[in-house]
Amino acid sequence: MHKVPQESALPEDFVLSFRSKLLDWFHLNGRDLPWRRTKDPYKIWVSEIILQQTQVVQGRAYYERFISELPNVEALANVSEDRLLMLWQGLGYYSRAHNLKYSAQKIMTEHGGDFPNTPEGVRSLKGVGPYTTAAIMSIAYDYPLAVIDGNVYRVLSRLLASDAPIDTTEGKRYYEEQADRFLDKSSPSDYNQAIMDLGAVVCTPRNPLCRSCPVQSLCQSYGTDLVELLPRKEKRTQVAQRYMYFYLYLHDDSFAVERREKKGIWKGLYQLPLFVSNSAKTPPSPPLEGWTVVDELVLPDHRLSHRLLHIKVLVCYSEPPVDTSSHNYEWIHTADHKEYAFPKPLRAFLDRYFAPSSPSLFDDEKQL
Ligand code: SF4
Repeated sequence: MHKVPQESALPEDFVLSFRSKLLDWFHLNGRDLPWRRTKDPYKIWVSEIILQQTQVVQGRAYYERFISELPNVEALANVSEDRLLMLWQGLGYYSRAHNLKYSAQKIMTEHGGDFPNTPEGVRSLKGVGPYTTAAIMSIAYDYPLAVIDGNVYRVLSRLLASDAPIDTTEGKRYYEEQADRFLDKSSPSDYNQAIMDLGAVVCTPRNPLCRSCPVQSLCQSYGTDLVELLPRKEKRTQVAQRYMYFYLYLHDDSFAVERREKKGIWKGLYQLPLFVSNSAKTPPSPPLEGWTVVDELVLPDHRLSHRLLHIKVLVCYSEPPVDTSSHNYEWIHTADHKEYAFPKPLRAFLDRYFAPSSPSLFDDEKQL
């Protein structure tokens, strides 16, 4: 593996050539995305927050729906929490939605509705880190600030054949310096979008398209094993396992739900009553008194960044019917479930379970 190249070892014409090849490629091949057709910092902010933890393919429809219903800061500041969560339902990482609304209210009260136009002002918005600040400032205002995200780490690491780890303070500083050096300060908006596109569609994590890469002739990893080995991480991410048992208490065409607390994953969303364990060996807790588990359905595992969720739904009936008012749940009609925002795995489950044509879906495999 190559050692980290010294900055002085990079000739200026290497940098100029990289910019020129990258921008030429981008102008012909850049992705046509709805948030690329605007300089409105509000819309760029919304798109960047959606894309923080969501793929472009999935985020696009959410962005268009969100902007069509909440076209400006004022509309977002005034939206109800339930409506906001419905717009966000399925995207995950719901603190992003809460932070957007919180920041929109702050822009209204502290800045008279004017979106901040300095790096410090943008960075002060809740949920906005250095990457999002650079993206908003460069794309909306042509401010020369280099973006660094997973795509940029990967492109620079392979381009320079650098084994500097991307998850240490020293390694990050190295890539920040390189990103700043490579940034085309006369065209920061196009340059930042170009390097992110290159990482997203050509220099991909696996099976990169090196043969059609516009910077292949400059790439220090091209044609070597380094392409698959870079970028390097020093620490391994620990993935915790969680075992979740949701109880579907069915009673008179209604079922019980509860609202999650406003912290942790899925904050503020509705869910079926839940029992969680860190171990597969811990059996689910018994259902409420008077209720019997009549079916057990296994949902597909749900992957979060640091957690793998193993999910089961325990379908419960009461015989004879119990007084539901004695339970501290909200009871919603089965026909109305789509009006409530649920976490993605539960939304998929409810859509199929209550679909009129598929009551026997679960009988075959007991798995959704
Ligand atoms: S040649 Fe391959 S490894 Fe190098 S930048 Fe292009 S896609 Fe990435």
